[in-house]
Amino acid sequence: MPEDYTDIRDAVARLCEDFPGAYWRELDRARAYPTEFVDALTKAGWLAALIPEAYGGAGLPLSAGAAILEEIHRSGGNAGACHAQMYTMGTLLRHGSKEQKTRYLPGIADGSLRLQAFGVTEPTSGTDTGALKTTAKRDGDHFVVNGQKIWTSRAEHSDLMILLARTTPLAEGMKKTQGLSVLLVDMREAVGNGLTIRPIRTMMNHATTEVFFDDLRVPAKNLIGEEGKGFRYILSGMNAERILIAAECIGDAKWLIDKAVSYAKDRHVFGRAIGQNQGIQFPLAKAYAHMRAAELMVREALRLYEAGENPGAEANMAKLLAADAANEAAEAAVQTHGGFGFAEEYDIERKFRETRLYQVAPISTNLILSYLSEHVLGLPRSY
Ligand SMILES: Cc1cc2nc3c(=O)[nH]c(=O)nc-3n(C[C@H](O)[C@H](O)[C@H](O)COP(=O)(O)OP(=O)(O)OC[C@H]3O[C@@H](n4cnc5c(N)ncnc54)[C@H](O)[C@@H]3O)c2cc1C
Repeated sequence: MPEDYTDIRDAVARLCEDFPGAYWRELDRARAYPTEFVDALTKAGWLAALIPEAYGGAGLPLSAGAAILEEIHRSGGNAGACHAQMYTMGTLLRHGSKEQKTRYLPGIADGSLRLQAFGVTEPTSGTDTGALKTTAKRDGDHFVVNGQKIWTSRAEHSDLMILLARTTPLAEGMKKTQGLSVLLVDMREAVGNGLTIRPIRTMMNHATTEVFFDDLRVPAKNLIGEEGKGFRYILSGMNAERILIAAECIGDAKWLIDKAVSYAKDRHVFGRAIGQNQGIQFPLAKAYAHMRAAELMVREALRLYEAGENPGAEANMAKLLAADAANEAAEAAVQTHGGFGFAEEYDIERKFRETRLYQVAPISTNLILSYLSEHVLGLPRSY
């Protein structure tokens, strides 16, 4: 079984005490980026947990990353502003050249280089990644990039972007997942020189954007791995991403259940605590049971991942169950708080909005169900 990392959890929880509900509430209101929180996490080295020691990171396994992210959410915070710094570098680490790793990973580890942006989703192709339209055409020692990405989160707070673009036009007989390549875009040079970023205001505070590429020149030496194999490289990081997001959802569910239970004990109506009513107890008990079951699936996915297996089914199920558990806990917490569930100062409505995201991103519930139907149950492919 993966370790619990109690020491890490305690240290992260202590750091999060400096960033209470009022901090997140203010940012939420202004849709502002949690710069101070991200700086504190970076300074403490938590975002470099998964980078090997040889490149300046802590070289910890994925379960340590999961523990860090879970604790942030368990404290009522949100790691969505920076979790990509922890795992997006995996594409570079697994598939980048020695020279690229030496050039970028130490800076990513010490936080002087932010690799927070991940450009895959496009407005027209959506979930159908192979149908993406952004192109990168070779021109001497550069690629020239044209197209658009959407939901490129944290682009305004990142120095680098992992970009998936089509380098070989789709021809007859070619699988649409072929001919895609991964480029590491240095956004410090690119913004204003072919790269434009436009923020999108969303239901929760997520610093997401759309980005436009207009003849952006990217040095060919920034191609990661082999040309045309990019889809595979992106896919290879998905298990880790799903497991880590699932850990965040578990943290959210725990925080919501704790808040609701303590409110249910304190709030008296009809001369007794509302938590004495089974109508209040049962939704919380159910949410708790579902959270614990989801947590076990997260641990199982971590166990298999760390044993070197490819736990596609478990990573997907962990994400599905944990996202559902967080949603269920949010629903029960709002109901338990009655009118105060809607008041900003209780933070419940904020978490209600934040947990809703994980039914859609980074992969929607339908697509997970479709994966399980086809790859685990052996049902015919539906699309
Ligand atoms: C806040 C936020 C942050 C994000 N951050 C990033 C990021 O940093 N980088 C990035 O690349 N992307 C990011 N995304 C994009 C996210 O991964 C996509 O929104 C998600 O994968 C769904 O794609 P879509 O929005 O295009 O929906 P669509 O593909 O248009 O799907 C719409 C709905 O139809 C359903 N659907 C589609 N096809 C099928 C099918 N065959 N069977 C059943 N149901 C189907 C989907 O499940 C979904 O519910 C982010 C999204 C959000 C909202």
